[in-house]
Amino acid sequence: MRMYAAGQWIDAEKKINVLSPYDGTVVDRVPCADPGDVENAMEGAVRGARTMGSLPGYDRYRILRAAADLIEARSEDFARTITLEEGKSLAESRFEVSRAVQTMTLSAEEAKRLHGETIPFDGAPGAAGKFGFTLRVPCGVVVAISPFNFPLNLVCHKVGPALAAGNAVVIKPATDTPLSALKLTEVLLEAGLPADGIACLTGLGAEIGDALCRDRRVRKITFTGSRDVGERICRMAGIKKITMELGGNSPIIIMPDADLDKVALAVAATGYSNAGQVCISTQRVLTSEKIYGDFLDALKPKVAALTTGNPLDERTKVGPMIREKEAIRVEEWVNEAVAGGAQVVTGGVRQGAIYAPTVVADVSPDMRIFRDELFGPVVAVTRFDSIDEAIALANDTIYGLAAGIFTKNLEWAMRFAREVEAGNLMINWGPQWRADLMPYGGLKESGFGKEGPRYAVEEMTELKLVCFHLAG
Ligand code: NAP
Repeated sequence: MRMYAAGQWIDAEKKINVLSPYDGTVVDRVPCADPGDVENAMEGAVRGARTMGSLPGYDRYRILRAAADLIEARSEDFARTITLEEGKSLAESRFEVSRAVQTMTLSAEEAKRLHGETIPFDGAPGAAGKFGFTLRVPCGVVVAISPFNFPLNLVCHKVGPALAAGNAVVIKPATDTPLSALKLTEVLLEAGLPADGIACLTGLGAEIGDALCRDRRVRKITFTGSRDVGERICRMAGIKKITMELGGNSPIIIMPDADLDKVALAVAATGYSNAGQVCISTQRVLTSEKIYGDFLDALKPKVAALTTGNPLDERTKVGPMIREKEAIRVEEWVNEAVAGGAQVVTGGVRQGAIYAPTVVADVSPDMRIFRDELFGPVVAVTRFDSIDEAIALANDTIYGLAAGIFTKNLEWAMRFAREVEAGNLMINWGPQWRADLMPYGGLKESGFGKEGPRYAVEEMTELKLVCFHLAG
């Protein structure tokens, strides 16, 4: 495919091969953008921001609504594209496409709801007779940088609200998975988006990231990706609005009164989707000493039953990791934990880029699979004695994206909600749960700002204050 900027589909001499994570075959080739392409995209986006800013909300609604319908009509093509470039199972890709339809539909609705409020100036000393209100206005040019793991829906979470709010947007998709974002760009143009309202630059973040993020014409950066790249972007960006959706190592707490069959089902469902490459995957399973053995007995068969293989095969539940080097990294971290005294309950084997769904028990908080973001199909089980210890372990991390607890006890559930430092808190389910309409984002070094179209539109706009100094 070609990339799109300043109203044109463009090519480049230097190309990037898009590879199947499963067998390494070339799925497609895309241009490798250079800083000159960034300049061209910026000039287009500045024009686009003027056009988008003067487009009525109802027109923006209709474009986004039409785009949602086009994605739905092309669901199977989008799903196959996601599986081919990203490696998740077809069932998971179909689910991602259905979520993208939701995200674009919600964004369309938000295009009609950009509003301010009246300010009660008469409540301020000496300000009687003044009349004021706030105006919500687009930022202008938005740069949207996205990760590999949800190549369609996470791009929609940025592009949908940015356009709903009347901005022009420059997308920089992950180099491993640029095809879904390019197809989304096609769909938006077909839906009637002004030609300069969007750009999609394919190229290496390490080569064009600085130019994109430093540019003073950019008024807003929305980034989803790893903590370290996020920190680099924050340092480079200078004075502009930023949303950071970064990594995590989400915990689930299993209290002694939990229904262990339901817990095992939830851990198997929330620890291994997309081969564990989900920012809110269940990574750390903090388990009460009282039910530790029974929980492992309930979990083991459920995880062992997760079939691995070719993600295009309808029977496959867990596909490959994005690259073999990532599966090798996961294997190293598990082996390191085992050398330190942890036990593999099931899994622990690798074939190329496929790492078998794995449970590691007796994990201690100093181990890498507890401390860092593993981002692979492994859960690490650790014991605790009391709710105080469970909450302390849950919070013993630089991250704060999501967490879950299983209990029937309201007091424990409420303490978890108040005291666990995470942006998304699930009671009686694992951390990996998201409805696209909810406010979503992390605390601590998992980032700042919220996604979910209603909340993202606020991040993509500025608030102006208007005051009438009336004569009377
Ligand atoms: P990544 O390596 O940080 O890459 C993310 C994006 O940043 C890619 O488009 C990448 O481009 C770009 N990039 C790399 N270096 C850059 C630079 N110097 N300047 C500007 N952009 C740059 O992350 P990933 O491996 O794709 O995704 C996995 C990470 O994303 C995990 O940490 C996961 O937790 C996180 N994530 C978070 C959320 C959330 O909502 N909080 C959701 C999904 C994923 P290239 O591909 O060209 O390097």
